[in-house]
Amino acid sequence: MTDLLTQGATIGILGGGQLGRMLSVAAARLGYKTCVFDPAGDCPASHVANFHLKAAYDDAEALRRFAEACDIVTYEFENIPTDALDVIEALRPIRPGREALRVSQDRLTEKRFLTDLGLATAPYAAVGDSGELAAALAQIGTPSILKTRRFGYDGKGQVRLTSPDEAAHAMAEIGDAPAILEGVVAFSHEVSVIAARGLGGEVACYDPGENLHRDGILRSTTVPARLSTAQRTDAVLLAGRILNALDYVGVMGVELFVTEQGLVVNEIAPRVHNSGHWTQNGCAIDQFEQHIRAIAGWPLGDGTRHADVVMENLIGADIDRLSEIARDSAAALHLYGKTQVKPGRKMGHINRVTPLGR
Ligand code: AMP
Repeated sequence: MTDLLTQGATIGILGGGQLGRMLSVAAARLGYKTCVFDPAGDCPASHVANFHLKAAYDDAEALRRFAEACDIVTYEFENIPTDALDVIEALRPIRPGREALRVSQDRLTEKRFLTDLGLATAPYAAVGDSGELAAALAQIGTPSILKTRRFGYDGKGQVRLTSPDEAAHAMAEIGDAPAILEGVVAFSHEVSVIAARGLGGEVACYDPGENLHRDGILRSTTVPARLSTAQRTDAVLLAGRILNALDYVGVMGVELFVTEQGLVVNEIAPRVHNSGHWTQNGCAIDQFEQHIRAIAGWPLGDGTRHADVVMENLIGADIDRLSEIARDSAAALHLYGKTQVKPGRKMGHINRVTPLGR
């Protein structure tokens, strides 16, 4: 049993988007303050956090002040510069730890980590330049996807190839960045497991959700997912292995492809995850509280699902339907306080809940 973080302590959150916003609300419910570090002035988390330090990720002095103002530090995105982490780690614990970030910041490192654990992934090959892409195409074939090793999210930094003739165009599309070539996995559907590991090493997983993407962006998550009992068990066990291998503390999203040969790991996200938003209305303890519990040394909470839920993201102009959605008394709304609407921008989400047994 570990000591609980003292009441009134401050949790630092790197990144002030919607995930940081919902983490801040959960932290407040558990008696903690939050300090958000984000370069943007009017970021979603700044509306609800106790403090907002507005500075760039390469501002070492600001990072030092941030760390000194906090008791522990967590994050809502994985692409935090290594130098920033070095400054913070010298002063305060970062949870989840550096190893999870190192592995998930680089698609090649992540794939090697997963295959070393004996988990199935898409076939892949490293691509440093156009010569290596030709060799990778000879090995993996087409259709395949060229993905930048770093800084890819919501389908960005990815190009699909249907023929080796498209190699030069694909390399140019990703700006000749270091990449991997992945074979296209023939999946029937996509699911994810939101898993948590406490400071003492205990692991708990939410029921897997089924995810629908459009243009590389998550549109909806439905629970329960279409999975056999054996697949459900596999999903939870493999998530547990990943967390244990990283000595992980906090919540992680594990994205999976469901294929006839079994579950294939697409990627891991060392943070609360969009596909776990359904837990806010489908479980007593949602993923945000679970994350705060884990990093603050609390026992994990009960994430048993008490309802069927469909989570729908409100993306870009979807928010224009707000007055219509607001009339739907069964739609639990979670809005992020973003005033600028842009195509592809996540503005909020809706959870539609059907209690079990009804
Ligand atoms: P990612 O950013 O890698 O999660 O990719 C975004 C989406 O692209 C995934 O959720 C899948 O729908 C699709 N995708 C990515 N990689 C593959 C793959 N190797 N095979 C088939 N579909 C993929």
